[in-house]
Amino acid sequence: AFRRPPEETVQCTHLDAAMAKASCAKLGYFHDPYTDQLIRSRSTHSSPLIHRGYWSRVEAIRSTVLRFLQRAPAGGVQVVNLGAGFDTLYFWLREDPQRWREDLVYFEVDFPEVLSKKISAISRRQNLWPMLDVTSMEELTTRSSTGLREIRTKHCRMVQADMRITSELQQAMDVGFRPDVPTLFIAECVLVYMQSMHGDGIIDWAAKATTAPSAMVIYEQTNPHDRFGKVMVKNLAERGCPLLSVFDYPSMEAQKTRFLERGWSKCSVADMNEIYSRHLDQSEVERIQKLELMDEFEEWHLIQGHYFVLVASKGEDGWVQSVSLL
Ligand code: SAM
Repeated sequence: AFRRPPEETVQCTHLDAAMAKASCAKLGYFHDPYTDQLIRSRSTHSSPLIHRGYWSRVEAIRSTVLRFLQRAPAGGVQVVNLGAGFDTLYFWLREDPQRWREDLVYFEVDFPEVLSKKISAISRRQNLWPMLDVTSMEELTTRSSTGLREIRTKHCRMVQADMRITSELQQAMDVGFRPDVPTLFIAECVLVYMQSMHGDGIIDWAAKATTAPSAMVIYEQTNPHDRFGKVMVKNLAERGCPLLSVFDYPSMEAQKTRFLERGWSKCSVADMNEIYSRHLDQSEVERIQKLELMDEFEEWHLIQGHYFVLVASKGEDGWVQSVSLL
């Protein structure tokens, strides 16, 4: 029988991400007034190195999402953010009519403990309610079958599941998820924190979840075997967040095969050095490089060489292959 491993620390990783993103936003790396409103602990000031890393991470995910939304045909489109934590991509899309689509339904999934914190935070921030198409608490939250509060508004569904259990994930999506609609699945720093068989299950589930052309984007750590990789793995393990699947898929090539063997027909992957210097908007790169002085170039390239973005797609329609920013 499957025993649930301790989850508290991996749940806490959402806070690290949120604090760093809020810190970036404050310094003007990217526009995100929302994360700061959702976290209780005052965001601490991170280092320029961390800011640049988070900027490229957020920018890579945002560009992929935008390409998907811009290219998917009219008539319904879905984004499913798996292990969303305190991510605020929904609000970023919603705030700008250039980015938003009226036929978009956006899903977020996370552990019940994380989701309930996020929902409490959103409940306290009435200024965010119009973006969720509601004006009262009654409209904002709905009780799930297990009695937990979820958000199930017109365009946004924030639901809870332990995604390692596919049946739980499948059931959680029973809040209007449509298998016949082009869907982009996001797993930003999520799969690496679970055993590879569980991540495999999610990749496989996502590929089968729709009959429409769809894509999946992931961002996480890689290359655990070189000197820097060993230090990275050790540091995270000591903090209680072991990279559980990094040794089973220790390279970008291995990750690519992982997706191609699980229902995805095309897959591109690149490390963050390449993404930063070739695939992100270079005028933006120039702009953010002026925000803070950073001279740890060797460390910067080492870190970025240990993170990657992978975009997998499936479906006959040519547009879905073209969403990859790689
Ligand atoms: N994707 C968000 C971001 O990048 O800002 C949060 C990343 S955080 C490092 C990892 C998130 O995945 C946490 O919120 C954690 O609770 C969630 N997570 C990890 N394993 C999960 C599981 N088995 N079921 C549901 N959520 C999970």
